[in-house]
Amino acid sequence: MKDSTEKIITDARDAVSLMSAQKGRKLTYHVTTFGCQMNARDSEKLSGVLEECGFMPEEDEQTADFVIFNTCTVRDNADQRFFGHLGSICAVKKKRPDMIIGVCGCLAQEDKAREKIMTSYPQVDLVFGTHNIFDFPALVLKVLSREVTTGKGHIISEVWDDTDMIVEDIPVKRNYKFKSGVNIMFGCNNFCSYCIVPYVRGRERSRPWQDILQEIRHLSDDGVIEVMLLGQNVNSYGRGLDDGISFAALLRKVAKVEGVKRIRFMTSHPKDLSDELIEVMASTDKICRHIHLPLQSGSTRILNAMNRHYTKEQYIDLALSIRERIPDIAITTDLIIGFPGETDEDVDDTIDVIKKVAFDGAFTFIYSKRTGTPAASMPDQVPEDKVKYNFDRVLSVVQDMSRERAALIEGQVKEVLVEGINRQDSSLVTGRLSNNMSVHFPGDASLIGKIVPVKLTKSMGFYYIGERGDRKNG
Ligand code: SF4
Repeated sequence: MKDSTEKIITDARDAVSLMSAQKGRKLTYHVTTFGCQMNARDSEKLSGVLEECGFMPEEDEQTADFVIFNTCTVRDNADQRFFGHLGSICAVKKKRPDMIIGVCGCLAQEDKAREKIMTSYPQVDLVFGTHNIFDFPALVLKVLSREVTTGKGHIISEVWDDTDMIVEDIPVKRNYKFKSGVNIMFGCNNFCSYCIVPYVRGRERSRPWQDILQEIRHLSDDGVIEVMLLGQNVNSYGRGLDDGISFAALLRKVAKVEGVKRIRFMTSHPKDLSDELIEVMASTDKICRHIHLPLQSGSTRILNAMNRHYTKEQYIDLALSIRERIPDIAITTDLIIGFPGETDEDVDDTIDVIKKVAFDGAFTFIYSKRTGTPAASMPDQVPEDKVKYNFDRVLSVVQDMSRERAALIEGQVKEVLVEGINRQDSSLVTGRLSNNMSVHFPGDASLIGKIVPVKLTKSMGFYYIGERGDRKNG
């Protein structure tokens, strides 16, 4: 950490201990996260900073002293869920005016949403965006150093329009001791016509590979055995860097870091996925047997309107060549149903791709109109009943396909990284296969963070029931 950040955190810690002394108890925080893996990683930074400042974690959003919402705006229901939470927490603050409420993330980056927060929720204390999260220690100090929060609203709002800075050097509290996300790039240049991300996360910026490797070495020294390399489009990693490194070359370097046993990455844009990447995945055991490759639509006409830069046939060829080169890989995808102008025939094309590629899993979403994107003003928005009909058709094929795929390895023994005690049954532990499927099997806390062989005794469609195995099979 830089000296200036350390000084800010020390000052914030002093302010927190003074407030704790006045209350006669420790101050607490809660971070509520909406959205993707990148937000989850950002939330680990928010928690890390708040703990360094002296706040203690609190499970219950409603009772914490400092509540921060890390928002997502990819779909309308994420917006609605956030405003639901915000409304109820603001009602709590009317009774406890010294509570601190912060809002950050993608939604805070949107002018209209931010205006709504500032005008309709005066109980909010702090609003900041995606570009200056590294400044969170200073923002915490600013909030703490104001006159006592009155609940009458004098919101600190610091949202930047854009940035070319990459600052990762702030405290992080990892959710798992043995695995961690690592940001390798930020932003997106693709401007898919339905997507708000390029507008709220800014242009694509890759981190120098030297910084990424240094972070991964530190994580490994700290007990991390699985890393997830994160970016909106990891396949274009390296563009704009002086040494012209590719994502495949980065993976090769990460695979050499001692102690790292598993490498995952998210997300891959099909148009940028190279043969070099397939080759590296095929030849490097440490790279997990899973690729998330968003299709979005199987209709070339709709893909064109989505500005995705590939056709139905190109996607199928790519997916099948990955399967051919890496037979045990799981391919998962994202699908959007109800994009403007989509017909039943277009959805038939999507179903055709699902069957030909045989996806191991798919996140199926109803198209959500995002103001400010080109798709929002396209004619022929699809009526709700038609969307629902096609959504159900697609979902049923996706589920059948995933069940079939999962059954293929039933009975085999596979390596599983144990992630925790099962939430429903404490005699079981839950872990993940290299192909990202979950397995529940008898075990205890001593297994958490270890990779153990497990026999997949029963496939349940999208997870397995297992038992400890004694041999590795594939
Ligand atoms: S690749 Fe497309 S869908 Fe993904 S973040 Fe960029 S614009 Fe959005």
